[in-house]
Amino acid sequence: MVDSIDFYGEKKWCRKCGKNVRYLMSISHSYCVQCGSVVTLFSKDAWRKFNKQLEAIKEARHGNGHK
Ligand SMILES: [Zn+2]
Repeated sequence: MVDSIDFYGEKKWCRKCGKNVRYLMSISHSYCVQCGSVVTLFSKDAWRKFNKQLEAIKEARHGNGHK
């Protein structure tokens, strides 16, 4: 039980690892302890929603006069 227990009791989502990971905090971002990528508070599902919204916004912008 001594070995790598959740240190912060909290994890964040790393897109690169594809899972929730422990992270290091910096001033503006948190970083995955495993791969060093920026991690987010979003879960996979939250990302999916978020990306959908982003795409909708992009389409709305790009869709203008594109035919
Ligand atoms: Zn990672």
